[in-house]
Amino acid sequence: MKLNPEQSKQFLEFINSKWKPSRKCEVCDQETWGITDVIFELREFSGGPVYFGGVTQPVIPIVCNTCGNTKFINAIKAGILKLDKKGNFVNHQEAKQ
Ligand SMILES: [Zn+2]
Repeated sequence: MKLNPEQSKQFLEFINSKWKPSRKCEVCDQETWGITDVIFELREFSGGPVYFGGVTQPVIPIVCNTCGNTKFINAIKAGILKLDKKGNFVNHQEAKQ
């Protein structure tokens, strides 16, 4: 799911408020991070064929542009997604309605 411009801005503000210096990459010691504008999902490993069900974590990657080290920020913790009363993911703007 691609972030809209408001969500991208909101995510950047969240990162800037939480990620304190030093922001150097622990792998290559550079500070060349790139923030993606797409929410991906991490699925629980089923031990076999892809299983659609179980636990899913929505994450937004931050990638070191020098070495590729990748951090995943949880989109719920970042305030981009919320859960509705049925436990379905909704984006923050839909949750306000
Ligand atoms: Zn790096």
